[in-house]
Amino acid sequence: MLLVVGNSQRLRILAIFGTALLFFACARVMRGLQTSLQAQQAAPAPAPPTSPAPIGQSAATAPSGSSSGAQTSQSALNVVVLDPAHGGTDLGARGTGGIQESEIDMEFVAEVRKALEQQGFQVVQTRQGNDNPSFDDRSAIANAQRNAVFISLHIASTGLPGTVRAYVNSDLPTVTTTNGLIPWDRAQAPFLGLSRKLGDLVQGMLTQRFKGSPETAQTATIRQLRTTAAPAIAVEISSVVVNDRADLDHMAPGVADAIARGIVAFKPLYVIPSVPGALP
Ligand SMILES: [Zn+2]
Repeated sequence: MLLVVGNSQRLRILAIFGTALLFFACARVMRGLQTSLQAQQAAPAPAPPTSPAPIGQSAATAPSGSSSGAQTSQSALNVVVLDPAHGGTDLGARGTGGIQESEIDMEFVAEVRKALEQQGFQVVQTRQGNDNPSFDDRSAIANAQRNAVFISLHIASTGLPGTVRAYVNSDLPTVTTTNGLIPWDRAQAPFLGLSRKLGDLVQGMLTQRFKGSPETAQTATIRQLRTTAAPAIAVEISSVVVNDRADLDHMAPGVADAIARGIVAFKPLYVIPSVPGALP
């Protein structure tokens, strides 16, 4: 179940705006450092931040344990933030057989985590147990990472059982403040193009396994994604309305494998977008 934000809802941003400024200020400083490091290498033409590698090589080249001196990997995607949606008193979607979305989200995330770690990715979760961090707390965890993508995982109460959909946030007008910073609730705007690529790649892998799923990622205004400053998608599995929970459990390995493959395919496309309004 996805929380979709209507246009009439106003988001409160003032209380968290200071945090957002800090994150973006840090990101700009880090980008500046990285740019100067690349400039020092004095290549005749500016090199892309990551050289495309064939799918499957990422595990071998992932910098697990050797972070120093690996400048080429500094901008390479190596962190995946997994968000088991809901939790605590927020049970999410509920089926007639006592199935609770918040609980099954955690099961699926555990499978996805295994599949990603086998590919050499570092995985960060927005919750570890049955608690319910706020949307902003979850985004803050993602926004504190460098070179990360964000995957929010849901079980739907609708949709054809046995299908899976990837969602990308719909267009967000890019708004910058007078000092060139992006407001917290527009954090996703510079990443939307990348999010669409990631969503389509993951959806393609899912559809190969789960017939009847859409061919491309869906678009919606999703509260969790709009405050996330990284390529970000939500993945929604149908559905809690199954008679036997095992029908959902059986989907977990396939969903995990498809998400991992989609992210591996996305890895060569990953670049850090320049933030509109930021100083060069
Ligand atoms: Zn949900």
